[in-house]
Amino acid sequence: MIHFSSRKVTSTLLDPRDNFALKTVDTDIRKDPLTGDSGRLAHFGMIKAKKDDFSGWDAPEARKFCPFCPDNIQSMTPRFPEDLLPSGHLHRGEATVICNISPYDQYSALTVMSRNHLVTLEQMTEELLQDTFHAGLDFCQVVREKEPHLPYYFIAWNYMPPAGGGLIHPHQQVIITDAPGNLYRKTVESSQHFARQHGTNFWEMLCQVEQEKGERYIGEIGRGHWLVPFVPLGVLGEFMAVFPGVQTLDDLQGETLDDLVQGLKMLLNYLDSREIYSYNLGLYFAPYLADTDLEPAAYYALHLRLIPRTYLNLKHKPSDTSLFQVALQEPFSVVAPETLCQDVRPFFEK
Ligand SMILES: [Zn+2]
Repeated sequence: MIHFSSRKVTSTLLDPRDNFALKTVDTDIRKDPLTGDSGRLAHFGMIKAKKDDFSGWDAPEARKFCPFCPDNIQSMTPRFPEDLLPSGHLHRGEATVICNISPYDQYSALTVMSRNHLVTLEQMTEELLQDTFHAGLDFCQVVREKEPHLPYYFIAWNYMPPAGGGLIHPHQQVIITDAPGNLYRKTVESSQHFARQHGTNFWEMLCQVEQEKGERYIGEIGRGHWLVPFVPLGVLGEFMAVFPGVQTLDDLQGETLDDLVQGLKMLLNYLDSREIYSYNLGLYFAPYLADTDLEPAAYYALHLRLIPRTYLNLKHKPSDTSLFQVALQEPFSVVAPETLCQDVRPFFEK
């Protein structure tokens, strides 16, 4: 029922690096087993991440102008209106949920993760991650009480500048909406379609099939199944965690959140070891939809995507997103998911 469709195309050239000998270069064009969207694997191994020099980023001068630093957060960041959150901000450990001064939607919040301006991957503790997700979930529940008709809940994270993180001070995004964006919408629709067509849950089956195949299956951490998607969204690939039996906001608490954080920390350790210091992360909850006869448990599972990001080099800092991703909406990756999986797996062995 789940098809992993892949085909190779070959380009022929006379190679100046080898006295213009005839060479062939393969591109692997794949289709996502859920949505059918295509993506390609090319330029194998040609982009290597390199850690930037962080030494100047945590200077007193930088902290002085940072709205998220402890001396400024009360005076420089907006508060929520009293009818939504009388305290203006929401706290959990070091994490503080604030109203976004540049919102993307009606409910577009930020969770400032730490009192520290710079938090490297090494310093990113499970406690910090736990408190940040908790704070974001608390805010989701506040909005859910007030606006139960809004179906989609999305927690996301642009970590560091290559991923579009405008401020170094780590912060996540919390978006609650009826307009989920193309990927999230397509994922939900395709999951429903799969359940109707095959009478089974795509996500549960994906975990089972990937676990059996073993090529892209990283490991099981509590309720979370970690794997590398067949069609990665990023130039340096992509990682995914699927939580079968966990769907909506209400299901992610206690041990399940511990499992998520534990697996995520293992992944961050891997990224750090490979000099990858930036990523986009998305956590996609089952929507609360009134106009469907399908229960979330029949078609969905909570999942997390983490897409590593990098500059192509540190001299001019070219973006790793170019015409393929922007003008064609076609992801391409320089690493095969199967190779990436082998590389990351030791970091998930407890
Ligand atoms: Zn700061």
